[in-house]
Amino acid sequence: MSSTSNFEIDVLIEALWRILPRERTPIALHEPEFDEQDARYLLDCLESTFVSSAGPYVDLFEKRLCEFTGARQAVAVVNGTAALQTALRLAEVGEGDEVLIPTLTFVATANSASYCGATPHFIDSTECTLGLDPHKLSEYLSDIAELSNGEARNRLTGARLAAVVPMHTFGHPVEMEALLEVASRWRLQVVEDAAQALGSFRSGRHAGTFGKLGTLSFNGNKIITTGGGGAILTDDDTLADRARHLVTMAKRPHRWEYVHDAIGYNFRLPGLNAALGCAQLEGLPDQLERKRALAECFRQALAAIPAVRFVEEPNNAQSNYWLNALLLDERVSHLRNEVLDAINATGIMARPSWVLMHKLQMYSQCPRMDLTTAESLERRLVNVPSSSRWGAMA
Ligand SMILES: *Cc1c(COP(=O)(O)O)cnc(C)c1O
Repeated sequence: MSSTSNFEIDVLIEALWRILPRERTPIALHEPEFDEQDARYLLDCLESTFVSSAGPYVDLFEKRLCEFTGARQAVAVVNGTAALQTALRLAEVGEGDEVLIPTLTFVATANSASYCGATPHFIDSTECTLGLDPHKLSEYLSDIAELSNGEARNRLTGARLAAVVPMHTFGHPVEMEALLEVASRWRLQVVEDAAQALGSFRSGRHAGTFGKLGTLSFNGNKIITTGGGGAILTDDDTLADRARHLVTMAKRPHRWEYVHDAIGYNFRLPGLNAALGCAQLEGLPDQLERKRALAECFRQALAAIPAVRFVEEPNNAQSNYWLNALLLDERVSHLRNEVLDAINATGIMARPSWVLMHKLQMYSQCPRMDLTTAESLERRLVNVPSSSRWGAMA
């Protein structure tokens, strides 16, 4: 058994080396890209002295985010987690509520619900999108939920089911049409965690613009970076105004008086970060092309290895391929750690799935549905280097 398996690991590593440059080891999972344009914008921002959370670059960054995503409004904030926390608060998620969240996600998705005083309620994923399974969710809600006074309740816990938070894993869009239908039937607010999905589209529509609110991240490991940063997307002007108000300490506009009409947050994105964001957005279309070229290389190289499947963009979707992922066949899933050890030992960074949320100590008591598919994905998933620069060599 192990001789054939080891053979397959060697074949896999050979395939990776056909795509990645040996002379550049160690090869990181995802590196940001900077050029003279980034430096020019940053210098200009310094010279303007508007480096903090006001000034022309914040407005310009928001305008350009709207143009790129097609969202009517974008509100720039300090990071993707703050964006999601604020978006959930704007969706009126509060104390005692439950929020439907995929168990296969980065911990910030679940934490954001907790910050609002709500309890994450964990949902399974599909093998195809790696994201929330709207069909399984629909069946599950028919079993455990009831509608009363226009609100969904969990019959088992008595809690209100306030919202659902699809997360577009590695940039692969969730089946949003089906999910919106389920959400509307159960009166759930839809807040999309599109932190990984800038540049991803489904049916021609940008990820993060299907729900009432959506959020992006511009952390250093995401497709573009502002150092740290995030944004809230929405088509609702009133919500966008309230978002800008909440993230600037809920201070009422006044020429000299300090009146705050809610417990707001100090979450506004500084101008310096926004300036970098403006420059990074200019490079995004070119980066997306190189990401696709790199993904195509992986697809071709891995097609010859039966024990491995490259995760491709779902039907009707154009993914940004933020992180390339492969799935081991269930038959060899017990070798995942060996595969990870071997790939990392050769100088290529490879990482497993996040530990599923319901397995983390602080979320182990939270309500959840059957999570068979997510558990299988967790056993089999391996991320491989995905920096756009390697796509330029394709
Ligand atoms: C990166 C990420 C976040 C958080 O973004 P930060 O900017 O790091 O706070 C939230 N959710 C998901 C799924 C992410 O990948």
